[in-house]
Amino acid sequence: MPVTPLRLIVNGASGRMGRAVLDRARADARWQVAAGVVRAGSALEGQPIGGVEAPGAARYGTRFPALDAVAVVIDFSTPAGLAAALDACLQARVPLVTGTTGLDAALEARLDAAAAAIPLLRAANFSLGVALLTRLLRSAAAALPDWDLEILEAHHARKQDAPSGTALALGQAAAAARGVALADVAAIDRASAAGARRAGSIGFASLRAGDIVGEHTALLAGPGERLELTHRADDRAIFARGALAAAAWLAGRAPGSYALEAVFDAAP
Ligand code: NAD
Repeated sequence: MPVTPLRLIVNGASGRMGRAVLDRARADARWQVAAGVVRAGSALEGQPIGGVEAPGAARYGTRFPALDAVAVVIDFSTPAGLAAALDACLQARVPLVTGTTGLDAALEARLDAAAAAIPLLRAANFSLGVALLTRLLRSAAAALPDWDLEILEAHHARKQDAPSGTALALGQAAAAARGVALADVAAIDRASAAGARRAGSIGFASLRAGDIVGEHTALLAGPGERLELTHRADDRAIFARGALAAAAWLAGRAPGSYALEAVFDAAP
């Protein structure tokens, strides 16, 4: 039986992730790309997505079009871009999937409040492997409560925020598994807090180089031994695949804040 495609808008459409989501969605009959939103002043404004002129072609725009008949918005942009997407989704009551990281507390609070009105799914990392890494780290952090824990991440040279959203989410998962709040134990800037390692702290280290897609290691060190859990993303298509799976899962749900784990748990 033919399935009606879900109409999708991608915010941050000219970025690395936006392009990866568009490429994948345009090649998949389950999706109909309605538009791509790019930053104000972008040379892409008005251009057809995919570059081929045709009547009714989906286009890039610098503002959100009317969202009626749009099933879901996927956002990979910047905090300001996400704030604009949130406004548009709230106004039209459209579900929002976002992977944008580096948000401030005010935007975090706005997103939390928005989940009362729209279905919202946020993930610092849309890969299946990182979802499993998070579970493994939770159990390792709880099973080895006295071991030192450090989270190392490496990303491409143009990444804006540090530590990565994924590193912080891993830290949060480990802290929760140990019954503490990450804010109380995080050691993010060692240069300005010299001295010995604080027992129970969770340290972060960030590398920025070349075109690394994303690497995360949770290092647990006890007396005389060390455990390292590592995930390496080789292709950002994995994040696009996860974001589209999340979007298909979220479309049509009741308002609320949903986690990626629910999507992967529901996968056949
Ligand atoms: P990028 O810099 O390549 O793309 C961001 C795009 O957003 C740019 O094209 C920029 O022009 C556009 N933009 C800026 N302001 C905008 C606005 N107001 N409206 C619409 N578009 C706007 O970055 P990227 O690598 O694609 O990453 C984007 C975000 O997604 C970052 O926060 C990154 O950390 C995050 N990310 C998340 C995951 C995940 O799995 N959750 C994976 C990769 C990246």
